[in-house]
Amino acid sequence: MKIAVLPGDGIGTEIVAEAVKVLNALALPLEMETALVGGVAYDAHGHPLPEATLKLAKEADAVLFGAVGDWKYDKLERQFRPEQAILGLRKNLGLFANFRPAICYEQLVGASSLKPELIAGLDILIIRELTGDIYFGQPRGRRIATDGHFPGAEEAFDTMRYSRPEIERIAHVAFQAARKRSKRVTSVDKNNVLETSQLWKDVMVEVGQQYPDVELDHMLVDNAAMQLVKAPKKFDVLVTGNMFGDILSDEASMLTGSIGMLPSASLNSSNQGLYEPSHGSAPDIAGKGIANPLATILSAAMMLRFSLNQEAAALRIEAAVKKVLEQGFRTADIYSEGTTRASTKEMGDAVVKALA
Ligand code: NAD
Repeated sequence: MKIAVLPGDGIGTEIVAEAVKVLNALALPLEMETALVGGVAYDAHGHPLPEATLKLAKEADAVLFGAVGDWKYDKLERQFRPEQAILGLRKNLGLFANFRPAICYEQLVGASSLKPELIAGLDILIIRELTGDIYFGQPRGRRIATDGHFPGAEEAFDTMRYSRPEIERIAHVAFQAARKRSKRVTSVDKNNVLETSQLWKDVMVEVGQQYPDVELDHMLVDNAAMQLVKAPKKFDVLVTGNMFGDILSDEASMLTGSIGMLPSASLNSSNQGLYEPSHGSAPDIAGKGIANPLATILSAAMMLRFSLNQEAAALRIEAAVKKVLEQGFRTADIYSEGTTRASTKEMGDAVVKALA
């Protein structure tokens, strides 16, 4: 089982080191090879996703990814910015299905900004389409407007688009995931305004007919954003497009107490996957040794489950994470009085110890 380890920038190196430590402690036959990605790759090779890194990712069974980005690269031409590496990996590996579970651990109920009764026992799964929509749609660019409210003024434009097969395949992923949970799917769109969303909804309904045992409902994205903080436990599987999913899944992260707790998996049709925390490179805390590594460690558990077929090992990691939270270990983002403050490394060590 070969894993491409791509720590990236900022806290990426710190949190991935802890996840690798946990994987090593499992004593499985895992071959891990590390490569540069993001800003550090641009600095070393002039590109955020060097050929060698892409080759390694393609050849591996799974990619363990940290995070990329730093404000110091903000002035670079877009194609050289660190974040382009993630888009490049998604595109080249065909990673169209993004899984973001949002689970509120009992011990962290108090760490969320929401009332405990709203989030206690929360366990929802956001499935986001990852390779289409306005983030990839062409044409895009800047030009001088020839019409609109201000002809002659500079304008920028992007294209939101989805094809039927793109929606069909993510719909199947959502319905199949729902079958393993409580058999409910909420499809989120903006069909009252957008053509893409109308097609999205139509296709969801059509594919849904092949899953009569799964209940499907629809929600407009603005309402979904509200319901996620009003009554998040109403959801089970939520499926949506690339941009809406980007925003809603970050919103959902706060339900769990901290974005540092939220893992993610991005899969292609042959279950090859990229596993990363839902957060970014957090330049504000990079190098301080205080980042929460649990989202990355939980992403490694998802990797074992989805791409490496090691369910038992995945469950061991998840149980170990629960245990360290029960033991009271907390990184700064989830710290509260009466708990034990842990550095990134101490948290990783505690998980390794709990595995035993
Ligand atoms: P961010 O997710 O990096 O940070 C948002 C806030 O959450 C910060 O206050 C940060 O300190 C905190 N935070 C994030 N992860 C944490 C962790 N593990 N433990 C404790 N606190 C944590 O988002 P941002 O500040 O908007 O972006 C920073 C950089 O990351 C940008 O360059 C952005 O483009 C990039 N980014 C990368 C990815 C990715 O690599 N997949 C995703 C999002 C943003």
